[in-house]
Parts: sequence; C-alpha cells; structure tokens
Amino acid sequence: MEKHTTDIVIAGGGVIGMAVAYFLSRESDLSITVIDQKKPGNASWSSAGGLWPIGESVGLGCGVIFFKSLSRHRRDNPNAPLAFDRPHQMPDCFLNYSLISNAMFPDLWEELKENAGVDFRLEKTGLKFLMYDEDDIAYAKQIQQGIPHLVNQLSWQNQEQLHKEEPYISEKAIGSLTFLPDHQVNPYLLVQAYRDGAQKNGVKMRSCRYLVTN
Ligand SMILES: Cc1cc2nc3c(=O)[nH]c(=O)nc-3n(C[C@H](O)[C@H](O)[C@H](O)COP(=O)(O)OP(=O)(O)OC[C@H]3O[C@@H](n4cnc5c(N)ncnc54)[C@H](O)[C@@H]3O)c2cc1C
Repeated sequence: MEKHTTDIVIAGGGVIGMAVAYFLSRESDLSITVIDQKKPGNASWSSAGGLWPIGESVGLGCGVIFFKSLSRHRRDNPNAPLAFDRPHQMPDCFLNYSLISNAMFPDLWEELKENAGVDFRLEKTGLKFLMYDEDDIAYAKQIQQGIPHLVNQLSWQNQEQLHKEEPYISEKAIGSLTFLPDHQVNPYLLVQAYRDGAQKNGVKMRSCRYLVTN
C-alpha cells in the first residue's frame, strides 16, 4: 500500500472537488490531495454547462415535462380535478443564490484564464424557452406571473423575431421567452480550469479506490 501525507483529502474530482481544491489552495498553505476512484468527473463530464438562475428556479427541465403531461391530461379529461396547475417554482432564496452566483462568473472567468491558462468559455447567451403550442404559451405566462419582480429580465419573441434571432430553430416553434441573465459555460473546460489552477497551487491529484487514514 502506498503511503502519503497530506493536510486535506478531497474525495471526488468533479467540478465540486476541483473548485474546493482550487479555492482552498488559493487561500491557504495547506497540502491538499484530490483523490478520484477512476477518471475525474462523472456528472461534470456529462453536462453542467448551464448557468440558469431563472430557468432552474421556475422549474424548467423536469418542470416542462411535468407541465406538458398535465396539459395533455387536462385536454383528455376536461373535468378531472388537478392537484397542480402551474410549474413548480423554487423558493426565492434559491433564485437569489443563483443570481449572485452567476454574477461572480465573469470575474472567475478572468481569474482562471490568468491563473490556470484555461478559458472555460463563458457565453452570455440568455436561455430561450421555445413555444410550440398554446400549452407552452400558458406555461410561459405562468412563469412570468410567478416572478413579477424579474419581469425586466424576461423578453418575449414572436415567431418572426425568434427565427430572425435563431435561424436554425425548428420552423414549428411559434415564439420564445428568453431569460436574459441565464448563461452557459463549457463544463469540461471549467473542471479543467479548476484542476490546472489547483495543480499550479501545488494540489496533488491521485487516482485511487481505497483510502485508509490515520
Ligand atoms: C445530463 C446532466 C445535465 C446537467 N446539466 C446541468 C447544467 O446545465 N447546469 C448545472 O449547473 N448542472 C447541471 N447538471 C448537474 C451537474 O452536472 C452536477 O451537479 C455536478 O457536475 C456535480 O459535480 P460533482 O463534482 O458534485 O459530482 P461528479 O462530477 O459526479 O464528480 C464526483 C466525482 O467523485 C468521484 N467519486 C465518487 N465516489 C468516489 C469515491 N468513493 N472515492 C473517490 N472518488 C469518488 C467520481 O469518480 C467523480 O469523478 C447536469 C447533470 C447531468 C447528469
């Protein structure tokens, strides 16, 4: 068995472990080791590129699928009582946390370009919710009603405006609602940037399956 001495062990080399390693190594003189049981990144290697404070807070993703199922159910059973009739919305603290977190990304982008030499490609794209039918329009209106204080962070596009802005979108789309503060990064490069920055600060990376401490 190999023996190593270190002040801190971080288990897991995904975006969270690498971010902890980077910031801890930036702020302290502790010796730090990141261990991963196989190659670094699992969830972080499949996605995690969306920085979507509004999108996540108003229940996009699974929320859309859920609401579409409800809409279909309502069409097929007009008299059936429904327990829920609107997208699931996260509490305000989640939205505020996400907005503050997003606002920190431009500085982090510059910092990691300089300290790690990696550009994780922050793109201020906004996030478009595409509408294909009346149910989608109803869903989008519900979203807007749920966040009246953020109405200036939303922008509506009719079909013509949408296709002018996004010429490669399906012609079946009849409009969109854009969440202006929702951006994206390249998730793989973000993990790489944290990892390279951490390594430059002296963090050790080790691949191992079993760990015994004393
Ligand atoms: C399809 C998909 C889409 C997503 N889209 C987004 C998005 O757009 N925006 C967003 O913010 N988030 C998104 N997420 C969520 C995001 O990817 C995760 O929240 C994030 O990557 C989690 O990072 P992590 O470091 O905690 O976990 P992981 O990236 O899973 O890293 C965990 C690491 O720990 C290692 N490990 C596990 N057990 C051990 C052990 N016992 N010993 C040693 N090492 C171990 C694994 O090998 C792995 O490398 C998405 C996730 C998925 C799957």
